Amino acid sequence: MTAFVTENRILDAEECLPRAELEALQLTRLRQVVERVAHVPFYRDAFALRGLSANAIHGLDDIRRLPFTTKADLRRYHPLGFITLPREKLARIHGSSGTTGTPTFVAYSQADLRLWANLCARFLVSGGLRPEHTVQVAFGYGLFTGGFGLHYGIEYVGATIIPIASGNTRRQIELMQDLGSEVLVCTPSYALTIAETARELGIDPRRPLKFAHFGAEPWTEAMRQQIEAELDLLAFNNYGLSEVIGPGVSGECAARNGMHIQEDHFLVECLDPETLEPVPEGEPGELVFTALTKEAMPLLRYRTRDIARIWREPCACGRTSARMSRVTGRTDDMLIIRGVNVFPSQIEEALLRVEGTTPHYMIEVDRPATLDEMTVRVEVAPELLSDRMDRMQILKERIGREILTVTGIRAAIELAAPRTLERFMGKAKRVTDKRAIVDREAP
Ligand code: ADP
Ligand code: ZN
Repeated sequence: MTAFVTENRILDAEECLPRAELEALQLTRLRQVVERVAHVPFYRDAFALRGLSANAIHGLDDIRRLPFTTKADLRRYHPLGFITLPREKLARIHGSSGTTGTPTFVAYSQADLRLWANLCARFLVSGGLRPEHTVQVAFGYGLFTGGFGLHYGIEYVGATIIPIASGNTRRQIELMQDLGSEVLVCTPSYALTIAETARELGIDPRRPLKFAHFGAEPWTEAMRQQIEAELDLLAFNNYGLSEVIGPGVSGECAARNGMHIQEDHFLVECLDPETLEPVPEGEPGELVFTALTKEAMPLLRYRTRDIARIWREPCACGRTSARMSRVTGRTDDMLIIRGVNVFPSQIEEALLRVEGTTPHYMIEVDRPATLDEMTVRVEVAPELLSDRMDRMQILKERIGREILTVTGIRAAIELAAPRTLERFMGKAKRVTDKRAIVDREAP
């Protein structure tokens, strides 16, 4: 199994361009896209305000003269105020899943759909997918970009697709066994639900899966290890968002040391979310993407709110593109608790350090009086649940200490029996914030 995923294959020559050539290509494409969006009302006005003309780009650094685009801007021009083509030229419309408010729509031309399939195929191939494989797609098919994005990527590679979509976990497992799925595509949290359900059904979930491509939500390295152990597979991470294209913005290669950003199509910046100045290479910052080659709805400097690190050292696989770390959180699901920034992924990291706590947890933040209080409810293994209050207390203290170490915040811990907390088939929603928080992005 390991042998075949480390056998390196690269789909397109552009993935390995020397940096200077890559940057020259980016510059040409940046100039083209600036021209293409110059008549979109939002950009026309923003360019006018800055005294920019469509040919204001002389070097890649000039990107900093261009306006940012945010989700609030997309909402302001709801539903399709950012398209550069006449409506009849659109081939598909998708929507963001609305993790953080009203859904926003994105549009694709025929050429955009071909590009998207190609970009998904690239990361699938870099993570070992070959035409002879059978792939089970357990992502939602619909407005969410995950299902269709991966679907056409797999088709591009020429592998066999089982488009079962998310849900009906039992059937999911039966079908996997019957049809011999070797590759699983879904969210990492759904992979754990699949493993858990299989065990309950007395089915060994480790056969016939060999590897998996997970994305659409943040997950930790510890969670990767747990999924790999439970399902006996190699798990690859891929990243994307609907506003940029969907999945296919970046993905891991066999080295599994950062996700290669498809820089020939997306110009990336990593900025301090407060000052909007670039952070030094390798430091965490907000990722900002400019779509260089999309036709229907290319966005300039889209602020993702995702926090990650970026580095440009060459990779053993031969790709020359920048790599990004895991997303450690989103500035908009970052909780500020008693003035301290806390990401749900940190809670997960702390929980996974305590043996017997599953990664099924919920976080609740409230402000009963003047101080914020955080409660973490977590499922624990049946053998740890006991009638002895003292034992339960020791476990809670242990969990509380780990959370304190990772986040600097003292949390109230509640232990829950297995299978009592909500399960997610798509993106997990683990945080309930009961404080009256104003949505910064609301138009
Ligand atoms: P929404 O913004 O409504 O969730 P999308 O469905 O486009 O809409 O989701 C994109 C977001 O999902 C990204 O901005 C990021 O926060 C998250 N995401 C996608 N892939 C990953 C990944 N591999 N790791 C962490 N987060 C991811
Ligand atoms: Zn690589």
